[in-house]
Amino acid sequence: MTSSTAHPYPQLLNPLDLGFTTLKNRVLMGSMHTGLEDIPGSHERMAAFYGERARGGVGLIVTGGFMASQHCLPEGAVPAFEQDGEADKHKLITDAVHDEGSKICLQILHTGRYSRTENLIAPSPVQAPINRYVPHEATAEQIESEIEDFVEFSAFCQRAGYDGVEIMGSEGYFINEFIVERTNRRSDQWGGSYENRIRLPLEIVRRVRARVGNEFIIIFRLSMLDLVEGGSSYEEILQLGLALCEAGVSIMNTGIGWHEAQIPTIATKVPRAAFTWVTAKFRDQLPVPVVTSNRINTPEVAEDILSRGDADMVSMARPLLADAEFVIKAEQNRADEINTCIACNQACLDHVFNGQLTSCLVNPRACYELDLNIEVSETKKNIAVIGAGPAGLAAAVTAAQRGHNVSLFDSAETIGGQFNLAKRIPGKEEFNETIRYFQRQLEIHNIDVKLGQRVTTQQLNESNFDEVMIATGIAPRTPEIDGIDHPSVVSYIDVISGKIELGKKVAVIGAGGIGFDVAEYLSHAGEASSQNIPAFMKEWGIDMTMESRGGIEGIEAEVKPSPRDIYLLQRKAEKLGKNLGKTTGWIHRLGLMKRGIKMISGCEYQLIDDRGLQLMAGNEPKTLEVDHIVICAGQEPLRELCEGLEKPFHLIGGADVASELDAKRAIDQGTRLTATL
Ligand code: FAD
Ligand code: NAP
Ligand code: SF4
Repeated sequence: MTSSTAHPYPQLLNPLDLGFTTLKNRVLMGSMHTGLEDIPGSHERMAAFYGERARGGVGLIVTGGFMASQHCLPEGAVPAFEQDGEADKHKLITDAVHDEGSKICLQILHTGRYSRTENLIAPSPVQAPINRYVPHEATAEQIESEIEDFVEFSAFCQRAGYDGVEIMGSEGYFINEFIVERTNRRSDQWGGSYENRIRLPLEIVRRVRARVGNEFIIIFRLSMLDLVEGGSSYEEILQLGLALCEAGVSIMNTGIGWHEAQIPTIATKVPRAAFTWVTAKFRDQLPVPVVTSNRINTPEVAEDILSRGDADMVSMARPLLADAEFVIKAEQNRADEINTCIACNQACLDHVFNGQLTSCLVNPRACYELDLNIEVSETKKNIAVIGAGPAGLAAAVTAAQRGHNVSLFDSAETIGGQFNLAKRIPGKEEFNETIRYFQRQLEIHNIDVKLGQRVTTQQLNESNFDEVMIATGIAPRTPEIDGIDHPSVVSYIDVISGKIELGKKVAVIGAGGIGFDVAEYLSHAGEASSQNIPAFMKEWGIDMTMESRGGIEGIEAEVKPSPRDIYLLQRKAEKLGKNLGKTTGWIHRLGLMKRGIKMISGCEYQLIDDRGLQLMAGNEPKTLEVDHIVICAGQEPLRELCEGLEKPFHLIGGADVASELDAKRAIDQGTRLTATL
């Protein structure tokens, strides 16, 4: 970097002076529970994970949430601060980060009524709609003990070399539950008036500050928009924010939405930087640096936010799973090399909720820093990769990184495979970022790319390639239904690629990921609200003036109805979309339901003719009088190339197994297999 004024991201890279310490830039890596916390070798693996992000230039890292209370931890588990030798183990993490010139705070989390234990406590016994356990009302003694846990854990963090702590006060967790009447029905000094309801966060911050002294960062994650009925008002949040600063907070972080809120806040459908207007309403009022968050995934977006003055720092979490070198690439004017987070949640949040280790769809190394290393190969090979979809792209780039000579072929005129369809779905435009990233990697690694070339087995047999990676993807499955050759029957590929204009009444056969996406595509009237922040807020009933409690109370959502009658069908008798992503499936379902899409399960397809589609639903015969029937009935592997192939070859992605294939598996397989070639 020559001079900060000439740099495209001067605000982002501007140091932040906290008085007693200075952060080297405005990037805060937001807290993520990765699952590394709970597995053998956890401290070494966390040291590698956070150390790599520190080396990548992040100014301030916040760890995943650690729980101090026996009312959140699994039965028999002991909090870190009560374990002998635990501070030394955490020093592995803090040293790894400090060695790279970055700083790190540990997040202390009390999950309150969201705790997955029978022993859970909350201000009042009000059950969360997303938890099967009813919380016990915390006694006055228990509340005192919880506060002390925060204090003891903070002192532990200081011993372990952390630069500070983040106190999790948002997302509808314990502290947040005390703040609002929705969950706090108490009449003692911890409930009733607003002053009483905010006593808990203030006591925690005051006592932590008293214990750790002045030269220790205290970040408070303040819920600035609850997105639930009975949430806080703007005036209340401001009052609390000011009091927290008075009590000793050094940095105020933004929390958007309780976990139980029925509004998407980070999924790919949410526009980039959708919620920075919320932080902006508090920034000038609060005397400490304020951090904004949610769907900030490129340095340009981050720079815009800071230049507009919406915040003093930006928090990014998933983008640093996707690319540990995000900041350093921005710093070195290599932003076009950043592997952008596409906000799919498939390998991060979905994994957390399924009890699996977090990783990243576009970066399978995330959280596998000690296992998945791309090392230069001792023997240089000539490798052909056939198919430039996600699997082939990942394989080609990995092979080139290992020093092999790589030629990449695709019969299409562009790289990207099915991602070229995915990116056309409203709300999935981010998928284009992955194609952009790989395009740049192909250039950087001098990969010989041959587009518009359908490769044959004979060509491969006659070539000088040492090994062949077959990444030819899939062919859509054609179900056996009487009348399937009727002219009203069309494939999802032709529909999404815009080759066919559909009529006003459409049936979609198959309600997997693609069936849902086709319904989404067909139910939009050409407008895309996915990058239009005011349109998104209207669609989900969010009040941008913040005059309503929780940002939603009394606000009617304004949903544009579908321009077509759409039936989404499946044979299974279960709820449609059951196998969609754990943390995003509900958004797809709710979005379609709001636009009036009719979902029918338990279908037996009988006949397609000029009248439309005849089927049995349950035991009821039905005729859907539709103009078109779109087939989204799954896929079969496409791998004829293997027949008679005389070169050593490997099948990856859809060409290997088409069933339940997604890009996560395609990229992971392409990368891992090639890492060992
Ligand atoms: P493909 O992407 O199918 O690529 C195969 C490539 O091989 C193609 O480019 C093809 O042209 C080329 N090819 C085939 N035969 C030859 C030949 N003989 N010579 C040269 N080239 C050849 N996945 C997710 O994880 N999340 C999502 O949200 C998601 N959404 C999707 C939405 C839609 C609308 C669609 C269609 C798919 C979506 N997917 C999603 C699925 C994901 O795109 C696929 O799992 C992934 O693309 C599979 O990668 P692949 O490399 O195996 O195959
Ligand atoms: P899919 O998820 O396997 O769904 C196929 C659908 O077709 C199912 O609803 C299935 O349900 C139906 N079906 C299967 N065989 C049939 C037959 N012979 N006749 C009629 N119906 C049949 O496949 P997909 O939707 O094509 O998606 C492909 C992959 O892309 C998926 O595995 C998915 O992971 C990925 N993808 C993911 C997302 C995402 O948001 N994460 C989005 C798009 C795609 P019934 O058998 O009950 O009818
Ligand atoms: Fe982002 Fe998807 Fe990777 Fe999660 S899995 S970090 S949402 S790209």
